[in-house]
Amino acid sequence: MRAYGETIFAEMTRLATETGSVNLGQGFPDTDGPRSLLEAASRNILEGVNQYPPGQGRPELRQAVSRYRSRHYGIDLDPDTDVYITVGATAGIAASLLALVERGDEVIVFEPMYDSYAAMITLAGGVRRSVTLRPDPVTGRFTFDPDELRAAVGPRTRMVLVNSPHNPTGTVFTAEELEHIAAVCREHDLLAFTDEVYEFLAFDGRPHMPLATLPGMRERTVSVSSVGKMFAVTGWKTGWVMGPEPLVTAVRTVNQFLTFSAGGALQLAIADAIDNEWEWIAAQRDALQGKRDRLAAGLAETGFDVGVCEGTYFVMADIRPLGYESGVDIARALPREAGVAAVPAQVFYDHPKEGEHLLRFAFCKRDEVLDEAVSRLTAWH
Ligand code: PMP
Ligand code: GLN
Repeated sequence: MRAYGETIFAEMTRLATETGSVNLGQGFPDTDGPRSLLEAASRNILEGVNQYPPGQGRPELRQAVSRYRSRHYGIDLDPDTDVYITVGATAGIAASLLALVERGDEVIVFEPMYDSYAAMITLAGGVRRSVTLRPDPVTGRFTFDPDELRAAVGPRTRMVLVNSPHNPTGTVFTAEELEHIAAVCREHDLLAFTDEVYEFLAFDGRPHMPLATLPGMRERTVSVSSVGKMFAVTGWKTGWVMGPEPLVTAVRTVNQFLTFSAGGALQLAIADAIDNEWEWIAAQRDALQGKRDRLAAGLAETGFDVGVCEGTYFVMADIRPLGYESGVDIARALPREAGVAAVPAQVFYDHPKEGEHLLRFAFCKRDEVLDEAVSRLTAWH
């Protein structure tokens, strides 16, 4: 694991704290989730829901997950066999990749990619084949070339890993893009793994479409989501793995030795919120859409070339119009020089040149915090 060192999120948050910077690096909100959720969790703890929950998760939460996936997407999941609760999406990703990737298997991933994928594919003994997302010359949104995707498939390919809405580019894959991926999976009999933690943070009325809803994909797709982004409680680390029973059974077999089970008092509270807090989820999405616009406008005024963001907590900004080349150098300098922390996107790439000039800014912050960051950046530049 030497190559992995400290994660960029830990490094940048430490730097932000040391320098008193506005932290737009690590993606976590600075306001809490719905009151009913917080109260239910506190109540559960005080009322004695404090021992191990069942390994696969509390039935109430598995049922609530099954209900929302059915209602929103028409995906039918048996809560007893097709839904499995984990310590955040992170443990779901870890257990799924350890369960489904064998030594020497190749996994196709889209770069830039969330950092835990690379580490977990390596720990599973797998090999990454990355397909680069680049800004479309016309629309500006990050997308892939379907020919590059096809060219990445080889005799050892086992899985395609898809994250949409996508961290860090903010792209929400369209039906057409997903169909390219599905076609490759069907033709080559591949598994798909989908990270949907930002499923309710697709903006401007754009739908989030799970890959599992495409023809021939349900039986070959394992998906994760989690409460962190759904209800703005990233520290609660409770997620769910979803998919067909044989694949979820494999994930469960691995996870029983990783964490065995996940916070029981939280699970009950989350189950209630999933059933009852849809207005909060919609309001949160709309608020974040406004924050995206606010930060994007501020960054553009400062001189960054701001990327198209269709969802998530993040917007990408190109530093070249400001006269810089290295995002890593700027991200390390910004906290001390400007009092703002961001993440250099280069760390999310297998081909670092592709993202050398990009910074990722998180906009999941109160408006006054975003404004303060922009005014500091303006003063710096
Ligand atoms: N996947 C992506 C794309 C993420 O951005 C994050 C960070 N929240 C995670 C997974 C991890 O989620 P969790 O906090 O539920 O482990
Ligand atoms: N998902 C968040 C991000 O991308 C935080 C990840 C983390 O702290 N590991 O910034």
